Amino acid sequence: MAEQTIPNWLAKRTFLTPERIAVESSGHVWTYRELDERARTTAAKFACFGVREGDRVALLVKNGMHTVEIIHALHYIGAVLVPLNVRLSAGELAWQVTDADARLFVYDSSQEEKAKAVAEKVPGCEAVSWGTLASTAPGSGDPPLKRVMALDALHSIMYTSGTTGRPKGVMLTYGNHWWSAVSSALNLGLHTGDRWLACVPMFHMSGLSILIRSVIYGITLVVHESFQPDVVNRALMKEKVTIVSVVSAMLDRMVEQLGSSAYPETFRCMLLGGGPVPLPLLDKCLRKRIPVFQTYGLTETASQIATLPPEYMADKSGSAGKPLFPSELRIVADGKEQLPGQEGEIVVKGPTVTPGYWKRERATANTLRDGWLHTGDIGYVDEDGFLYVLDRRSDLIISGGENVYPAEVESHLTSHPAVREAGVTGVPHPRWGQVPVAFVSLKDDHAVSEEALRQYCREKLAKYKVPVRIHFVDKLPRNASNKLLRRELLKLL
Ligand code: ATP
Repeated sequence: MAEQTIPNWLAKRTFLTPERIAVESSGHVWTYRELDERARTTAAKFACFGVREGDRVALLVKNGMHTVEIIHALHYIGAVLVPLNVRLSAGELAWQVTDADARLFVYDSSQEEKAKAVAEKVPGCEAVSWGTLASTAPGSGDPPLKRVMALDALHSIMYTSGTTGRPKGVMLTYGNHWWSAVSSALNLGLHTGDRWLACVPMFHMSGLSILIRSVIYGITLVVHESFQPDVVNRALMKEKVTIVSVVSAMLDRMVEQLGSSAYPETFRCMLLGGGPVPLPLLDKCLRKRIPVFQTYGLTETASQIATLPPEYMADKSGSAGKPLFPSELRIVADGKEQLPGQEGEIVVKGPTVTPGYWKRERATANTLRDGWLHTGDIGYVDEDGFLYVLDRRSDLIISGGENVYPAEVESHLTSHPAVREAGVTGVPHPRWGQVPVAFVSLKDDHAVSEEALRQYCREKLAKYKVPVRIHFVDKLPRNASNKLLRRELLKLL
């Protein structure tokens, strides 16, 4: 069968709608025509640095217009993007650059110092600053720009953030990203005037997927360098942003900052994903009529694979919805598909699912079986087919034979008026095997005692779920996507 190809996204988009605004950041805008010209020029510069089709290029940059330009330039070369997390240490970054066998390592001025340390540790990989790359004169003669891509060609290797262990490079193809964009549009609908705000990092799937969707849909990508609740709220209230992607810790701060104000009708989608969402936060959003679309997804599924539209927020509160159109989802325990209401591992299948982990045959074979991705998350579906994600299998606390899902205990703790955020993990116990302990940070000007909080838990939770100790801390360990790092909680002691 002939190889299936797809036109270069930016070239096609520019051909279709050259004058639409492609990207906007801090008052700067580029049309698709302008972005395309820049991306082609930058692609020629990459070629001067010897980057060829299939080469891996590691990218250590903050969100900005330049990030968008560089990523599209890599598409034009057919080079594989390896986005790096700016919050990692030089040692962790060097490990990923080495693991990916990167040909070139590009960083921006915000990362200068760390990048030098990385470059020293990985002498085999050429390091270049964005400033140097941008000021390089493109070589004479046109570089061979890729006008079409094979759907199964490798687009990116994205390292999982490692909340559960050593990062693994998730391989994602052009086809994975294409289908992810199509599924999302089939779910959310497509409005010509859409403006999708990326205040999540583009080195994670949540941010990168916005970049890819915007060019496929022909909408505007609004880029914020980092997340600031008041700035994001202003963009939603005054700058006609229609969609924003957030994780629950971000949404919580936005709702707090919003106070008694409400978002305008123009704002149509708060795409909420990345981790468990405390029910009290969902209730608050429901009362404030915030159009929350709760999602479930992984890097391995090129972002969301299930989504709950806002019309079900009241009836199916806490659910991550149904699998998107091209995807399938099952709950499996002991190799058998579970019935509605029965818990088990969430397994998924579909065209957005990764072909595997970079250079990790064993991990790939463990995770992908008969085309089904074993997510390592536990959940169940109800009679109507709605998915409820309970927690990660690896975070599960088994206390006296009973399952304690940290997310459930955290959700209850954060419903207390004094609590800002909560993290729960297990500690060994001679009698019960494990028992839950909690780490809590309080809201400014609020106080509550440990005993009062434990009493609050006893009122709603089974005894074995009540944390045996509650430690008060300033803040909880989170990764660059603001996800709670439960395995680091005990280091706070
Ligand atoms: P690692 O897999 O290395 O620990 P990670 O958590 O950053 O890294 P991602 O691919 O970013 O990996 O996140 C996917 C995980 O996020 C899922 O496996 C799941 O545990 C969690 N998650 C995503 N959506 C939800 C949801 N709606 N409810 C609960 N958990 C969710």
